[in-house]
Amino acid sequence: MPKAAKSGGKEMSAFDIAQAQIEAVGKRLGLDPGLLDVLKNPNRELTVNFPVKMDDGSIRVFTGFRVQYNQVLGPFKGGIRYHPDVTLEEVRALAAWMTWKCAVIGLPYGGAKGGVICNPKELSPSELERLTRRFTSEISIIIGPQKDIPAPDVYTDAQVMAWVMDTFSMNEGYSVPGVVTGKPLVIGGSKGREEATSRGTMYATREAAKNLGLDLAGATIAVQGYGNVGYNAARLFSEECGSKIIAVSDSRGGVYNPGGIDPMEVKAFKDKTGSVVGFPGTKPLTNEGLLEVECDILIPAALEGAITASNAPRIRAKIVAEGANGPTTPEADEILFKRGITVIPDILCNAGGVTVSYFEWVQSLQHFFWTFEEVKKRLEDIMIRAFAEVWDMSREEKVDMRTAAYMVAMRKVVEAYRVRGIYP
Ligand code: NAD
Repeated sequence: MPKAAKSGGKEMSAFDIAQAQIEAVGKRLGLDPGLLDVLKNPNRELTVNFPVKMDDGSIRVFTGFRVQYNQVLGPFKGGIRYHPDVTLEEVRALAAWMTWKCAVIGLPYGGAKGGVICNPKELSPSELERLTRRFTSEISIIIGPQKDIPAPDVYTDAQVMAWVMDTFSMNEGYSVPGVVTGKPLVIGGSKGREEATSRGTMYATREAAKNLGLDLAGATIAVQGYGNVGYNAARLFSEECGSKIIAVSDSRGGVYNPGGIDPMEVKAFKDKTGSVVGFPGTKPLTNEGLLEVECDILIPAALEGAITASNAPRIRAKIVAEGANGPTTPEADEILFKRGITVIPDILCNAGGVTVSYFEWVQSLQHFFWTFEEVKKRLEDIMIRAFAEVWDMSREEKVDMRTAAYMVAMRKVVEAYRVRGIYP
């Protein structure tokens, strides 16, 4: 997966893309250049180099980041990613996207993101735990339930969040469940958090399909990335909408069967073998090939920069539902828009995760927990309302849905600056 995508012949980092998006929408909204500069840059960045004792007794130094992008709407909020290719630039971009995501949905949060440069596949569970605890200690000076609330992202999960919560709580001297979301249920997690991003993606796609006159029952779906977001999306579309999953992939490659693939069986196969590749009854596909499969809905659910100017002309989906953050470059956006392909932008499409994280935070602060039915209903209401707001804006302004989502989000942030008296 490229960390940088070609645009106009030059390499664009994920943060270049995030800034280009802000710049374009800021100009359309007629924002003051000074305020635009504020919105284009992170508020605070922390880089930490910290030692971890490995199982063989040796010491290794790891580098991690926490970027707190904007807090005008509330405490910072954003996931922690463990990946060998994590960079400060990437974390900045992800933190910026969190800012717009929270704003477009109407959550009382700013945006943040964290990451550690590491390959969790090469670490033992105890090494991963020691790494997580030390990283948490390092960033504990800037996180907290009223300050900045981390959550899972690529290659981090509920167990990692439990270690973060425990380390933070040890230092405070009492349990602080509100410091992270995506925790296991027993220590204050929320019902429905694990599948929330995918459930939100399903609700947003369902609204788009309704507006476009596409029946989701029997609709064909290709999913890139088969982790938390990709797998749960495949499962929910299949179980709750009757859609047909025809292709899935992970970091090692993809598989294809136009007759349909059972999402749960592929998951069981991946759990056993480590990959979806080789799943019986399917044809092999490359990761590039998966994105170009003819289908009704394409769900990129891996990393940034998947859909670029070079493959956008060959995308054969009616809807691109961005489960991942930043999977489409600005040039690819333009191409898809001209080709009449509806892109449901990441900041709207995958916002179900942070929305249920918000529910979890509220429940953790109140020590009062909701049923799964309550979580689903509240999430559905929020996604329907946010989708309609963005859809209407895109129709009124005759712009693609990403531009519309940014317009909705940036207007809220700018209004917050104005009423707080930070900007006239
Ligand atoms: P995950 O670690 O559970 O899964 C990532 C998956 O992507 C794995 O199956 C991996 O094999 C696959 N992958 C990696 N490189 C790939 C490649 N080049 N081609 C195809 N597949 C590849 O991570 P996740 O939590 O599912 O996150 C996936 C995306 O969704 C990320 O962009 C993340 O930022 C975004 N996201 C996650 C959440 C959440 O709640 N987990 C919320 C919002 C957005």
